[in-house]
Amino acid sequence: MIYSKLQVLISIDELATMKVEEVIKIPKRKGGPMSLNPWQEAVTNLEAVAKQIGLDENLLKIIEKPDRVLEFKLVVKKDDGSYTVFTGFRSQHNNARGPYKGGIRFHPGVTKEEVMALSLWMTLKCAVVGIPYGGGKGGVIVDPHKLSPAELERLSRAYARAVAPIIGPDKDVPAPDVNTNAQIMAWMVDEYSHLKGELSLATFTGKPIEMGGSQGRTEATGRGGVDVLNSLAKYYKLSPKETTVAIQGFGNVGSWFATFAAQEGYKVVAVSDSRGTIYNPQGLDIEEVVKTKKEKGSVTGASGEKLGRDDVLSLDVDVLVPAALEGAINETNAEGIKAKYVIEMANGPTTVEAEKILLKKGVKVIPDVLANAGGVTVSYFEWVQNRQGYYWPKAEVFAKLEKIMAQAFDEMMAKVEEKGLTHRQAAYANALTKIAAAVKQRLS
Ligand code: NAD
Repeated sequence: MIYSKLQVLISIDELATMKVEEVIKIPKRKGGPMSLNPWQEAVTNLEAVAKQIGLDENLLKIIEKPDRVLEFKLVVKKDDGSYTVFTGFRSQHNNARGPYKGGIRFHPGVTKEEVMALSLWMTLKCAVVGIPYGGGKGGVIVDPHKLSPAELERLSRAYARAVAPIIGPDKDVPAPDVNTNAQIMAWMVDEYSHLKGELSLATFTGKPIEMGGSQGRTEATGRGGVDVLNSLAKYYKLSPKETTVAIQGFGNVGSWFATFAAQEGYKVVAVSDSRGTIYNPQGLDIEEVVKTKKEKGSVTGASGEKLGRDDVLSLDVDVLVPAALEGAINETNAEGIKAKYVIEMANGPTTVEAEKILLKKGVKVIPDVLANAGGVTVSYFEWVQNRQGYYWPKAEVFAKLEKIMAQAFDEMMAKVEEKGLTHRQAAYANALTKIAAAVKQRLS
């Protein structure tokens, strides 16, 4: 027996007849890999903030590069008896504050530089929210849509075997990322536990609930984003019922953000997916949109005015929430953005050039390293629960999450006020200060 995406037990026979999309619910991503040179972009950002906060150049040198980047081949037997060789990576960026932490993505556009950049961002993200982890990231150059479920399982298990010597609850804790999910984590934890000769649940997070996953992990990124929205509303004195919100992307992150925002009284007036935007200036019925997306595969069938896919970005709203793709807000569309606040729920949705345009227009951009850190925070809770062998109800998970997100937001605003930094610079500055302190304490 094995766990499916629905976290119910299915038989091996059933599994053999299923399509890979049914097993892991892989959304077909149009956006593809990250922007042109992600590592250069990440380093440019980091160096600029380090300079601004007067970080010692030696410390920056120590922090900047990953501690280790492992590149390896994965040999996978196909169902027809032939073999395919894939390339895999694991970048362990920095563990001064705790074990490396970060997801594993399966995508044809994965590159070593992309994995390195993402691992650096994980180091920053964990420090921004003050959870005791460093940063890591992994990936395989593969289009999982072209694999059968059995081939996908063999690839996942091969990946776990390849990284087994360098991962573990106190070393490096992987999780799902693009095109990987709870089922894949279940295969990986099973493989790793076999190798270790003992159950080692805390080596991976994002597992199915029945295999040590945390309550609330599925909703965590959206939930944490709405905690940030609440802090933003409190700080800038916005009344939820008069605050209009438009959300780009209605996958895991966007749909949960919309659900919680609507439940808490914000006026979610527009949501979009790859097929288009649905708009109602009086506020959408988000429950109906969720149902429509589930039944028809797109939000565009829900009630409301139908607009073009990218129109969601230029609507006259208070808060714009990019929750789909890297580089969604770029030089070509930044000028047209009318929102006063952008909450970055996707990773890297605003390019460096676009942010300059937005800042000139007075738009406040709440950066991804804070806004979408709810996911990794609940991954941390999962690791804690695995190690305690004691599991918390969802309400407790969300209450603890809210406290962490609110504190990180307040720390960012304190830096904005004190140093006149942008929100992104302030969040980076706080993270760098924490990382540098840990690095420094380890130096002789
Ligand atoms: P997902 O694949 O579940 O959803 C993506 C959504 O974006 C889909 O609704 C898709 O239709 C939509 N989309 C694709 N292209 C679009 C376009 N051009 N215009 C409008 N919508 C488009 O992905 P997700 O897990 O919700 O992740 C979204 C973003 O959030 C990614 O950048 C991811 O890296 C980031 N993120 C996710 C998590 C998490 O816990 N899932 C955590 C942190 C960051």
